[in-house]
Amino acid sequence: MAVIPEPTMETPAVPTRAAALEALERFVPHAGGDYARDRNHDTGPQHDNVSRLSPYLRHRLITEREVVAAVLARHPLAACEKFVQEVFWRTYWKGWLEQNPEVWRRYRREVAELVLDEDALASDYRSAVAGTTGIDAMDAWVRELVDTGYLHNHTRMWFASIWIFTLRLPWQLGADFFYRHLLDGDAASNTLSWRWVAGLQTVGKTYLATAENIARYTHGRFSPAGLATSATALVEDPLPPRQAIVPPAALPTGRAGLLLHDEDLDATSLLSEHALAGLTAVAGMADPSDRSPLAVSEAVRRFTIAAVDDAASRVTDARGRAAVTLSADLSSSVLRWARSEGLDCVVAPRAPVGPVAERLAGLGDALAAEGIRLTTVGRRWDDLAWPHASRGFFPFREKIAGLLAQQGL
Ligand SMILES: Cc1cc2nc3c(=O)[nH]c(=O)nc-3n(C[C@H](O)[C@H](O)[C@H](O)COP(=O)(O)OP(=O)(O)OC[C@H]3O[C@@H](n4cnc5c(N)ncnc54)[C@H](O)[C@@H]3O)c2cc1C
Repeated sequence: MAVIPEPTMETPAVPTRAAALEALERFVPHAGGDYARDRNHDTGPQHDNVSRLSPYLRHRLITEREVVAAVLARHPLAACEKFVQEVFWRTYWKGWLEQNPEVWRRYRREVAELVLDEDALASDYRSAVAGTTGIDAMDAWVRELVDTGYLHNHTRMWFASIWIFTLRLPWQLGADFFYRHLLDGDAASNTLSWRWVAGLQTVGKTYLATAENIARYTHGRFSPAGLATSATALVEDPLPPRQAIVPPAALPTGRAGLLLHDEDLDATSLLSEHALAGLTAVAGMADPSDRSPLAVSEAVRRFTIAAVDDAASRVTDARGRAAVTLSADLSSSVLRWARSEGLDCVVAPRAPVGPVAERLAGLGDALAAEGIRLTTVGRRWDDLAWPHASRGFFPFREKIAGLLAQQGL
């Protein structure tokens, strides 16, 4: 079992479902008017005007559904609408990337090329990631990101804008730097938010950080000089047409083993959604190193492994045996586990477009070669919402009330 770290300045979120539920309970009273009024302010590393739930939601130590349900049990929708919409941003980005996976593949290829490109990694990049640009705000945010694995949403926007338009660094390397350090690092939210700032996501519309806006929302902590005064949108080759979302596969038959992974760590609600019981074996796999060709931070590595370990500790197989956590040499470990348990089928939570989905695709082939089927099971939350994430967020937002009703919320 991995040791679950105590929350410290270096790893501020404890990677357990129990800690996630406590954080949710603390936040719920504030999800009404306080949140809508204060959410854009970054007053310092405590960030008590926002929920700080993202590392938990990102790994589904708690689900979007239960967060929204808890908030709606305390506040009328009119009072907590802003917060509910923010949770749906996560869903929207995932659904959009699911229908446009080439955006992810391109990003991956470009990062792989850039990290070998000495020009791209010249001194400006190195000083940006070392927090020595001389722009006090950027340097402080790099330290905060590296030390805590978190940055406030507004700060992420300023950071990305300064990176792209003032420092003129490749957006892909900035997204990679975030992805390697954020405890909530998420293929869809991160990649698509960076693209949004760069003017690639809403084509031609960029986000320009200004000293006035930064000073106002950091309560005067920062007011950086010398920022770009204009932001010309980046351009890219046209994207291929949107793809249909792959429908869920048929449920398994025979001896089935559950393989948990860090995209969805609440097995209890997932199994009950699918009325799945009588599992022959249960395992969890955790290895965040696939996030980047460069090293992911130690805080991300520890958080991910401990989160999977926590999820594994909450589920047993039909014989009451606890799950094992596989965290090294994953493909061979999963194959060995499936073989030794005599499985006909491995069931995994569906992984949205990103490194875990890539890993599952490879595993599926390796298992199939041994006559073992890999099947993934999704969530109704995603099934209902993702198809609506085909255009911008505003048409998607119009669907939220209907989606909540379909969820019985
Ligand atoms: C450049 C950039 C990169 C980002 N990278 C990531 C990332 O890798 N992973 C990630 O989870 N979020 C990312 N975000 C979105 C957002 O900044 C974080 O989700 C949010 O700051 C998390 O803090 P919180 O839980 O206190 O949010 P709250 O304000 O309390 O919001 C509640 C929840 O809503 C969701 N949410 C809020 N804002 C957004 C948003 N803009 N996009 C998607 N979901 C949102 C999150 O699940 C969050 O936990 C990024 C934003 C930008 C601008």
